[in-house]
Amino acid sequence: MSSGALRYPKVGSKKALGRSGPTTPQTDTMVPSRLQGDHRVSAFHASPAGSHAAGAGPGYAELHAGRSTAPAAGLPVSVTCGICRADSFTVLYPAGVAQLNQIVQCKQCGLMYANPRKNADHIELETRSGEWDFAAVNPQRYEKEQLQIRDYATTRALLNRLHPARGKVVEVGCSCGFQLDAFLKDGWEVLGIEPDRSAARQATNKVGIPTVNSTLESARLPTECADAVLMLHVIEHVPDPVGTLREIFRVLKPGGHLVLETPRYDTLMYRVLGRRERSLSCDGHIFFFTTETLRKAYALAGFELEKLEYVGRTLTLDRLAYNVGVIAKSAFLQRVVSSMSRRLLLQKLSVTVNLRDMQRLCLRKPPSEAVRGAPGGPA
Ligand SMILES: [Zn+2]
Repeated sequence: MSSGALRYPKVGSKKALGRSGPTTPQTDTMVPSRLQGDHRVSAFHASPAGSHAAGAGPGYAELHAGRSTAPAAGLPVSVTCGICRADSFTVLYPAGVAQLNQIVQCKQCGLMYANPRKNADHIELETRSGEWDFAAVNPQRYEKEQLQIRDYATTRALLNRLHPARGKVVEVGCSCGFQLDAFLKDGWEVLGIEPDRSAARQATNKVGIPTVNSTLESARLPTECADAVLMLHVIEHVPDPVGTLREIFRVLKPGGHLVLETPRYDTLMYRVLGRRERSLSCDGHIFFFTTETLRKAYALAGFELEKLEYVGRTLTLDRLAYNVGVIAKSAFLQRVVSSMSRRLLLQKLSVTVNLRDMQRLCLRKPPSEAVRGAPGGPA
């Protein structure tokens, strides 16, 4: 997609108004038939409204820190820094250069973020209405997700070693549930959190994973209910990354682990490609972490580092070719490459590309004695 053509919809246009409907978060818990009636599943599920423990995440309307108010969903809002809340920044890429949003860098802590950016209320509004068959509508992403299970084999091995008795694992943004299915087979009790309704239905009905169809904050999980949490390629999308990390900290048992993965922007490749860097051009990405800014974010939430790796991922050859089109910022090249790769059956061939352009962290919630000193207040 050529980002040069992407602009915010004009105020008053049909698209800008978005879908009308309640903004109150709803939570649907979906339990696969094979697990219905299993008492371990209900005990692990979302607590009823009202039993939400103190310190849990705020609603989306409250998530816009600083000077933003709450305009209609889908309209751009100005926001302060997601880590230090400073309102002083350098513009790195004006709107339409790297992606739809303008990308800035905080002068105080160095965080790169989209500002102004599309109001994050769209996360609840736009993803909850999908009733379609995910695999049929989005076959490329479906294939990619299945393929990428192998990229996390070492993560499963690490968590299996850290938790020899297994326990409960929650995946924030579980999509179709393939990753949790692999954990289920390793003996873990699993729960998926997925705001996209079509993906959540896929996870529940086709893959057999109990799934809460909401954001993490709206899921209102019980305090200290999980031994491990996975959040892979999600933190760059959420409106308040430190708030989300604090919510995971609350949900984890003392001594529990969070595995977090996100692109990084302290690579040679990013310095060379700049605005052409592939993950920068994804309009859904609103935070862009370096190793150092991500360290600041997780330390604010109280986490300690267990392990840090720089990783790449497994791609089909057609996806790899498509990414070349993204980097070239050419819609024409993407179309040509796409049609050629389908003809050459490149989607059947996969390769593992380790560009070390992503950071995968295993973080630890300190055991109970150490938790008392952890920072709890707002940044
Ligand atoms: Zn900052």
